[in-house]
Amino acid sequence: MNLVFLGMPGSGKGTQAQRYAREHGMHHYSSGDAYRDLLRDADPVATEMQNVIAVGGFLPDHLPIRLLEKSLSQNGNVIDGTPRTIAQARMMERRGILVDKAIHFSLPAEINIERMRARRTCLSCHSIYGHNNPAPSLCCGKEPERRNDDRQESIPTKLHLYRKETFPLIGFYAAKGVLHVLDASNPPQKVYEDLCRIIGL
Ligand SMILES: [Zn+2]
Repeated sequence: MNLVFLGMPGSGKGTQAQRYAREHGMHHYSSGDAYRDLLRDADPVATEMQNVIAVGGFLPDHLPIRLLEKSLSQNGNVIDGTPRTIAQARMMERRGILVDKAIHFSLPAEINIERMRARRTCLSCHSIYGHNNPAPSLCCGKEPERRNDDRQESIPTKLHLYRKETFPLIGFYAAKGVLHVLDASNPPQKVYEDLCRIIGL
C-alpha cells in the first residue's frame, strides 16, 4: 500500500506520517531525509541532485522520483514530501508507483501562519519545536532559533508558494478518486485517530 500525505509546513503531516508508519509497520518516506541519507552514501541520484542545487539550477522532475523509487519498501509506504508537482505525480504513475490513498492535511491559512511562526530549532542537537512542543528558553545552552527554511521568505509568501504547488495535486488525486481530506487544525491525537479511520476505510 502506498499513501501520499499532502499538506503545508505546519500542518503536522510529517509527525503524523512518522507515527502512522511506525505503528503500522510501514516505511516512512520523507524526501528530505532520503536525500540526506543517500547523499551520505554517495548515491549517484542524490549526488546529481546536489550538483543541480549547488548551482541554483532547476531540479528536473525525474530526480526526486528516482530517489523515491530507490527507497520504497515492500511493506507499504507513507510518502511525505513527494510528489511536489503534477508532472512528478504522473511520472510516479508511469513508473508503476500507484497511490492507494492521498491524504490532504487541511489547515486554515491563519492557523498555518501562526504555527509556522512558532517553529524553532536548536542549531546544536537539531531538535524541532513548534505549537505542540513549545521551545524551551534554552536548548544545548542557546536560545532555539527560527528554522532556516522559515526565514528565507516571509511566511505569507512561503505559504503562497506551497499552495501553488500543493493545490493542483489535491485536484489531481481527487480526480483519481483517491483523495481524503483531514482537518489538521484538531489536536494531534484527534488528527491521528481520524487518519487511522480514513486509511482503514
Ligand atoms: Zn539542543
